[in-house]
Amino acid sequence: MPNFDLTQRVAFVTGGNGGIGLGMAKGMAEAGATVVIAGRNKAKADKALAELRGLGGTADFVEFDVVDEVSCRKAIDATAQRFGRLDILVNNAGTSVRKPPQDLTAAEWHHVMNTNLTSAFVCSQAAYPHMKSVGGGKVINIGSMMSIFASSYAAPYAASKGGIVQMGRAMAVAWAKDNIQVNMILPGWIDTELTRTAREQVPGLHERVLARTPAGRWGAPADFAGIAVFLASRASDFVTGAAIPVDGGFSVQT
Ligand code: NDP
Repeated sequence: MPNFDLTQRVAFVTGGNGGIGLGMAKGMAEAGATVVIAGRNKAKADKALAELRGLGGTADFVEFDVVDEVSCRKAIDATAQRFGRLDILVNNAGTSVRKPPQDLTAAEWHHVMNTNLTSAFVCSQAAYPHMKSVGGGKVINIGSMMSIFASSYAAPYAASKGGIVQMGRAMAVAWAKDNIQVNMILPGWIDTELTRTAREQVPGLHERVLARTPAGRWGAPADFAGIAVFLASRASDFVTGAAIPVDGGFSVQT
């Protein structure tokens, strides 16, 4: 039996207060990890914390904005200090501005890139010395189908999600000698707040996703618990720089 146990491990999940981030946080909590979720919305976080603590483990919330570099570094250092170590970082916080490229402002471009990509760079860099000091660690970056495909309404989103894969691969190569594995999860269409808004704005999206997804359903946050535990645990110690679709077959159907 491979070692999926996360007891004694400490995980930091950006955007772990809802959606896919919370799905992964719950999986890791069930495997025994102490989980710190980080985001802006405290009301959502209180509900998430109650769910995480209900699973029997230690959980905490840090209120921060991932675009604020100083807050990111402080939150990660404080987590390592409070719990004595940091083993797992999940760069999950993300956003999108749905517009064709010709209508985007530079401010909108920077906002999406800073939220989805620069934050992952800053948090990974902040986590690195803590992971190195305990002999290794795991970084899990959340990409998207837009790490592979493109869309007319999501230039900065696609750029950030393509970028997070390549940045992760570079870190995987750089940090392999430190026993730090860096991997990417590429979600398909998942039912969360992010896509609920898109579904409201784009007529026919719901049906198109169902027709295009071989599994015949939208994904759920709980679909990310297993992959998170695998990539956070010793079971994946020889897996690094991989980009793994969790998409019900979306990316392999012609
Ligand atoms: P949600 O909107 O449910 O979750 C996004 C999370 O990111 C929220 O918890 C939010 O926290 C956090 N967040 C966003 N901006 C910031 C910020 N500036 N500072 C701190 N936290 C922030 O969406 P999903 O769960 O769907 O998305 C999670 C990840 O998965 C994203 O990276 C997204 O791009 C990716 N993804 C999602 C897909 C889907 O179909 N749902 C498909 C492919 C990728 P708060 O509310 O506190 O701001």
